[in-house]
Amino acid sequence: MTRTDLLRDIRTAPRRKVLISGAGVAGPALAFWLNRYGFAVTVVEKARTLRDGGYPIDVRGTALEVVRRMGILPRLRDAHIDLRRLTFLDGDGSEVASVNPHTVTGGVAGRDLEVRRGDLTGALYTAVRDDVEFLFNDSIDTLDQSGHGVDVTFRGGSRRTFDMVFGADGLHSRTREFLFGPEERFHRYLGYCFAGFTMRNTFGLSHETMMWNTPGRAAALYAVGDNDDVHAFLNFAHPEPPFDAFRNPEAQRDLVAAAFADAGWEVPGMLAAMRDADDLFFDGVSQIRMPRWSSGRVALVGDAAYAPSFLTGQGSSLALVGAYMLAGSLADGDHAAGFAAYEHHTREFVTVNQEQVGEGDATLFPTTARALEQRNDMLRNLSAMPSAEGRPAHSALTLPEFMPMT
Ligand SMILES: Cc1cc2nc3c(=O)[nH]c(=O)nc-3n(C[C@H](O)[C@H](O)[C@H](O)COP(=O)(O)OP(=O)(O)OC[C@H]3O[C@@H](n4cnc5c(N)ncnc54)[C@H](O)[C@@H]3O)c2cc1C
Repeated sequence: MTRTDLLRDIRTAPRRKVLISGAGVAGPALAFWLNRYGFAVTVVEKARTLRDGGYPIDVRGTALEVVRRMGILPRLRDAHIDLRRLTFLDGDGSEVASVNPHTVTGGVAGRDLEVRRGDLTGALYTAVRDDVEFLFNDSIDTLDQSGHGVDVTFRGGSRRTFDMVFGADGLHSRTREFLFGPEERFHRYLGYCFAGFTMRNTFGLSHETMMWNTPGRAAALYAVGDNDDVHAFLNFAHPEPPFDAFRNPEAQRDLVAAAFADAGWEVPGMLAAMRDADDLFFDGVSQIRMPRWSSGRVALVGDAAYAPSFLTGQGSSLALVGAYMLAGSLADGDHAAGFAAYEHHTREFVTVNQEQVGEGDATLFPTTARALEQRNDMLRNLSAMPSAEGRPAHSALTLPEFMPMT
């Protein structure tokens, strides 16, 4: 069969129907590429609208090429946060060191992007919303793969059959639980919990972050511009993952308030603001590590399959690259071959990025007085200039070109 015959066959064949659970970063990115390759895509998101809270996130290395190929790089460049200074403070609020942020994050000035999470999800959603069906305020209730497709019942009551289903539903993925069992099996807890929310910028901060530390605790105020809000961030060591709190916002607030009860600096005001915040995001600092990312006609992508934790700063970049690789691997084959190719070509990139934890990032949050003093010495000695190259792990995959069918 010639390529022309193949394309004619594909154009006249009914479009393969797929369902994606989750409209965060991985979900809309996967929807974009699957739609490009001729699939009829539905995305189901449990929230009522696109969720736009969260701390600013990085798009770096290989992921920059994904957003360039999607045509959203100019929009993201406009949204880039030009963070100019990162100041570390002691428990009494005195300055330890003030550094160029790239020296700590491994980002490359002028190339890598840091944007509000909502600006990234907004750009991804805008790029697909006219071509893809979105079902907000709903979620998958059951999945049955015993027939020739995947029979899905939705919480809202409807029932539909899809050729494939994708779990892009984040660290606490229900799709993963349906397929592979409880989260505890794959959850690699790194010993911290964190809360993020926005509050009034009464501090006069602009394009900068202030981070206060005592052993096992960090509080940061992150001003993305000159506007009225700052991103507040509270990170604390906690020996066991608080699985009960992950689905209970009041328990999360209590846990954070207890951890910072006697803290100084601006922390009392931050705790008060957290109580009233309507965009609180709380989670464990954790990775997901799985031996396989698919089962039958269902595959996982992004945090659901391989969350790297915010300590790597690579969560969104892995989600973007994973979505591109998964969709491309399915462009001209069936699900079994496509899922195998996706894992084969993406796993090493995921692994080297997950392994970035422990090579410096976690030391930003020392848990003992001695380790904190060592970190402070390291910060005082940091060169003022960022490395020009960035970390090799961020660019450790060269994106293939996949054959578009439409
Ligand atoms: C509101 C929000 C704020 C965040 N803030 C931070 C932060 O401050 N720091 C940080 O390190 N990471 C944060 N993250 C996680 C970060 O966005 C991801 O690590 C990264 O972008 C990978 O994206 P993802 O699409 O795999 O997962 P996510 O961005 O987590 O997206 C998953 C999506 O799936 C939806 N979902 C979950 N369960 C279901 C279900 N059962 N059915 C349907 N939909 C479902 C969620 O509502 C969400 O929209 C945040 C995530 C969210 C949702």
